Amino acid sequence: MPAAYNELLDATIQHLEELKSRGVRNVAVSKETLRALAQPPQKISAPIQNTKTETAPQIQMPVKKTVVPAPVAAPKSEITSSSPEKAAAFNALRERALSCVKCPHLASSRKNVVFGVGSIDAQLMFVGEAPGADEDEQGEPFVGRAGQLLTKIIQATGLSRGDVYIANILKCRPDTPGQSAGNRKPTPDEMATCIPYLHEQIDLIRPQVIVALGATAVDGLLGKTVGITKLRGNWQTYRGTPLMPTYHPAYLLRNQAMSEKRKVWEDMLAVMEKLEMPVSEKQRNYFLK
Ligand code: URA
Repeated sequence: MPAAYNELLDATIQHLEELKSRGVRNVAVSKETLRALAQPPQKISAPIQNTKTETAPQIQMPVKKTVVPAPVAAPKSEITSSSPEKAAAFNALRERALSCVKCPHLASSRKNVVFGVGSIDAQLMFVGEAPGADEDEQGEPFVGRAGQLLTKIIQATGLSRGDVYIANILKCRPDTPGQSAGNRKPTPDEMATCIPYLHEQIDLIRPQVIVALGATAVDGLLGKTVGITKLRGNWQTYRGTPLMPTYHPAYLLRNQAMSEKRKVWEDMLAVMEKLEMPVSEKQRNYFLK
């Protein structure tokens, strides 16, 4: 049996045992999986990554119903760069992240590993907290409501999503066992486990400026737990790279005040100036009454 399959199996069993110890007695399971579990033969066929024809021996599950980990989505497109070595290193890093099972509970609950999107030659990189349900579904960061707002912010600078790079502190959606909706913040353990992938992404991309979206991004990158309200708008340094902390777009969705939009926009103006991007009079006056 392939090692990756065994790792996923161990991750699933560990996750189910954790759920059981937390008092969870039922978990969601698809009709197909139920049908497969009900088959009389001693083997269950489980599609894991590219091993669609692999079969697994019957598994003694610690709870009555269980979840078979979803296959990891294939990368949407090949990563390209003016440097083939950089593209190869980035692809290798992505392959490692896509098959990561270091957080067994997240590996077994995720639909996709949300690695990152954009140009690996970008001068500007945005870092958020963790994928939500939409991102988990699509395998791409910032595609839900907050993501659409981030896209508008990026476009207001004159750039597109493809000009920048977007990633998160966590590559997997934080699980919410027993809940059918909602998100939760990553735990310190999850952040510490996942952050090396982001460090490697940043080391390869070498952006001129990083924008940290919200307190979790600042905490993950700088280890600072000072309130985002105090930090935003003040240049910080991440391993020698200028880092601008600003509010998470989800905050702007919750607080629609023009003054809060203006604060984020002022942070973006500072970023544009740092990158020596042209700033028009119209852009300078966005969100001023
Ligand atoms: N919020 C985040 O922090 N990241 C995403 O990818 C989506 C929402």
